[in-house]
Amino acid sequence: MKTFCGRANPTTGSMEWLEEGEDYDYHQEIARSRYADMLHDKDRNVKYYQGIRAAVSRVKERGEKAIVLDIGTGTGLLSMMAASAGADFCYAIEVFKPMANAAVKIVEKNGFSDKIKVINKHSTEVTVGPDGDMQCRANILVTELFDTELIGEGALPTYEHAHKYLVQEGCEAVPHRATVYVQLVESRRMWSWKKLFPVHVEAEDGKKILVPPSEMENCPGLPSVCDIQLNQMPSNDFSTLSDVVKMFSVDFSKPVQSASTYYRVQLEPVKSGKAQIVLSWWDIDMDPSGMINCTMAPYWVKPTSALQWRDHWMQCVYFLPREEPVLQGEKLYLTACRDEYSVWYNLQKARADEEEHKADVCVESPVCRCRAHLLWNRPRFGELNDQNRTRQYIKALRKVLKTDSVCLCISDGSLLPVLAHYLGAKQVQYLVLFFRSLHFSLFFKANHLEDKIKIIEARPELLKPSHLEDKKISVLVGEPFFTTSLLPWHNLYFWYARTAVSTHLASSVTVLPQSASLHMMIVEFQDLWRIRSPCGTCEGFDVRTMDDMIKDSLNFRESKEAEPHPLWEYPCKSLSEPQEVLTFDFTKTVPQHCLSTEGSVKLLRKGKSHGAVLWMEYHLTADISVSTGLMQLSNEKGNCEWNPHCKQAVYFFSSVIESEILSDPTAVTYAINFDTKTGEIAMDFKL
Ligand code: SAH
Repeated sequence: MKTFCGRANPTTGSMEWLEEGEDYDYHQEIARSRYADMLHDKDRNVKYYQGIRAAVSRVKERGEKAIVLDIGTGTGLLSMMAASAGADFCYAIEVFKPMANAAVKIVEKNGFSDKIKVINKHSTEVTVGPDGDMQCRANILVTELFDTELIGEGALPTYEHAHKYLVQEGCEAVPHRATVYVQLVESRRMWSWKKLFPVHVEAEDGKKILVPPSEMENCPGLPSVCDIQLNQMPSNDFSTLSDVVKMFSVDFSKPVQSASTYYRVQLEPVKSGKAQIVLSWWDIDMDPSGMINCTMAPYWVKPTSALQWRDHWMQCVYFLPREEPVLQGEKLYLTACRDEYSVWYNLQKARADEEEHKADVCVESPVCRCRAHLLWNRPRFGELNDQNRTRQYIKALRKVLKTDSVCLCISDGSLLPVLAHYLGAKQVQYLVLFFRSLHFSLFFKANHLEDKIKIIEARPELLKPSHLEDKKISVLVGEPFFTTSLLPWHNLYFWYARTAVSTHLASSVTVLPQSASLHMMIVEFQDLWRIRSPCGTCEGFDVRTMDDMIKDSLNFRESKEAEPHPLWEYPCKSLSEPQEVLTFDFTKTVPQHCLSTEGSVKLLRKGKSHGAVLWMEYHLTADISVSTGLMQLSNEKGNCEWNPHCKQAVYFFSSVIESEILSDPTAVTYAINFDTKTGEIAMDFKL
């Protein structure tokens, strides 16, 4: 069987569908999966084990046989816990075939084959009865079907079905209960992920303010959850307006309803401010007493308890439909609406007519109407709202633009054409790839720019002199930014587009950025290493089969490839100096031959080299550069500050190198190759 996989082609800036062998999808799934991260989550594992032991003893004390249903068994871990806790039999359900196969092997290796039956089905397909998958209904229900939003992986419909068809009434459930918590906050930083703030430009003819169209102002944005490592959000980037409040709970030992509903709580702001964001997380009680609690609460909630790092469960940021000024002590209602898979929030001021009030709470799930939220993802909104960054571009544009400039901009959903216009370019042509300009007409209209900036909906190679009114381009600009880019160097599509429009460039053309460079640094991660590190044994169970599977899948395709991670969320320490490894000259066309480099980098600090981080820097002019990676490096400790709007590329080393001696620093050698035919970068590192 063949599958088709969508991949952006960095040489064309478009999505392409490639035919891949049947193994491809599965290896991607395993290599990028969170199984390793879950197995490293000690806090979760210990508490599941405690909860399972307690549930098995409660059933045994009642004189019953302990029959366990483990939905979504993965490696089989929770079933093996149940079997060692004395369960009489476990039905371990797993829908993903490669995982079900792995579970069979792991269960066998650990000697539980007679107690655990692995069933490769979706739980809703499982049958009960003498000839069924299960002989009888279970009296213990164990699951781990939660995502950061709790219900996003379909926990509710799965529980609803299980209570109807697969477990006995009054069954014990591990976890027993989940509770969702919320806190109302004001945060310019997080709000900047949803809204475009006005952009101030000091133009030749006075101050200009670029405003977002009203359609964008009132747009509810996207329904997809915004999940982040909230523990990396510094406390001065937000201000809490309410206490932490319990929003809703789900009792998993009773029938669960998945149908859409809403929950409402009353809030009294502890401080006046602008309500913009609802921060949310959940905890699970593994037993009815609530003594075994596993929580995703961020650092400021229980400052004294140790935090467990995990990437499979984080925290959620919800954007209120609009900003609401609130006063300390006033009465507010916060409503959480949910369907089967997602949650969204509304804030209302308390009113006398309570009943009417109730009628209008359950609004529809947020759907972007302005189209900007479809084109700009949340980090991109943040980037466009970054005033420091905008200032750099303005400064650079000022240097290169003249009153008679004919300017062409190539970047997706960019504000550069508007900036260029305000800064006095005679004619600004904005070249956009056909489908990515949709909301720009709204934007231009709101700022009375419709007849000032021309949108050319053509691919660069199809640009004709008539598009440019037979003029030559004197200034070619780009951020560069393209929505299809996954890795930092995919924005080099700007170089390919520049090459494609070569015949339209004046001989004295200025290209901004004039060049780009690829930078690299060896790092020790505080935690991110866990997602790629083998686990060996987990709570006494041998899970090496899973380790091997992940390793195989990584080697299948990804061996010489890096992966994107937003490193502001994943602290690391630099072990080497940052190094410039490749440069790309935008004043020239893309060469036919590959660009390669080899060299070595010294490990200057003591630590574990987990991998290399790579990022791009754009040299807008000779003296103005912007970095999409490292922003600052503190020299004593090597702590890094990363660009908060971009993902950097991480290349994990296959084995960790420990550097100790500083007098004779260890060197890591590297070979990096930019294939100009594919636009991809391959790399290799050796100790
Ligand atoms: N129980 C394991 C793995 C949890 S990951 C552990 O705790 O370590 C969740 C797993 O559940 C995934 O492997 C996913 O494929 C599977 N899954 C999710 N919903 C399911 C369903 N309704 N029926 C069967 N498997 C399901």
